[in-house]
Amino acid sequence: MREVPGIEDFFGFAARLIRPTVFRSMMKVLVTGGAGYIGSVAVDALIDAGFDVVVFDNLYMGHREAVNPEAAFIEGDLADKAAVDAAFAEHKPQAVMHFASYSLVGESVENPLKYLGDNVTNGLNLLSAVLDHGVERFILSSTANLFDQPETIPISENETLIPGSPYGESKAIIERYLFWLQKTKGLRYAALRYFNAAGCTEVKGEDHTPETHLIPLVIQVALGQREKIMIFGDDYDTPDGTCVRDYIHVADLAQAHILALKALDTNESLHYNLGNGAGFSVKEVIETVREVSGHPIPAEITPRRAGDPAILVGDSTKIRKELGWDPQFGDLKPIVESAWKWHSAHPEGYGS
Ligand code: UDP
Repeated sequence: MREVPGIEDFFGFAARLIRPTVFRSMMKVLVTGGAGYIGSVAVDALIDAGFDVVVFDNLYMGHREAVNPEAAFIEGDLADKAAVDAAFAEHKPQAVMHFASYSLVGESVENPLKYLGDNVTNGLNLLSAVLDHGVERFILSSTANLFDQPETIPISENETLIPGSPYGESKAIIERYLFWLQKTKGLRYAALRYFNAAGCTEVKGEDHTPETHLIPLVIQVALGQREKIMIFGDDYDTPDGTCVRDYIHVADLAQAHILALKALDTNESLHYNLGNGAGFSVKEVIETVREVSGHPIPAEITPRRAGDPAILVGDSTKIRKELGWDPQFGDLKPIVESAWKWHSAHPEGYGS
């Protein structure tokens, strides 16, 4: 039954009407990959914060339905330099958030040149447009896969960059180039190294084809769409032998992007690790989905997946102190609950 709108709905509606006229003059942000899992949530956060947004996405992995209707949308490929240039010429963004990227460690080990082409060659097209059109702020989606052999856990920004795979290497190359573009051309940038993005908002979820990420795969088992979950190795040097990861909610990642974008007003370069500072093993993730869904979740141990470090846990003290980042989903259970809610409501993802 549809509820009768209350007074809060009225104020929410009024705020949405007023907000664009108040803040729209702030800044226009071009978001590559804004139809994807993390990018679409960041677009919502940008629009909520009053920014003008242009999404540039080839829809290989993203979904048109995931693009906020208040954003302009261009279906385009970063490999197409002319299309990238035309998007900048038409929309004249003042900042870029760059989410569009292949991001699978295992795939990059099997097909390393795909990652060089995507992140580096296509990244060059994007960075050329950024310089040619005088864009002064750039935010890069980077990765915890920069840290294959961390000396200290949780991993801080002082850790030496030793990429764990061709994927991590491709992000490291772009991070280094941003450093040089800052020095030589004055481009202000933030490199945000995500640990394991997870969870869903009320309206945006994780829908990859094929799905390879742990939490949505375990949820597929709980929904009866998959018979069992494969555990990739139980002989790691960790308490229960399975890999330990730091799961961070997408909405918290999105907030970090807004903070970083604003901080570029007064900073030339920023590097931040974005995690919760707590690690959960593959077995603990499966157990949490069991608890949240009430499904037994059959599991089978298989050999290790190439390129997987044993433990990746981030130390986000720096961004918390410097920018006041305050993640709202500090534990695994509420993250899994948010994902369970979205996947239960959208069992076929954006297709349903
Ligand atoms: N994993 C697993 N079974 C799966 C998918 C993932 O055991 O079907 C493990 C994977 O080896 C890693 C962890 O779960 O240790 C998280 O993997 P995911 O692909 O979600 O993220 P990544 O850490 O690669 O960014």
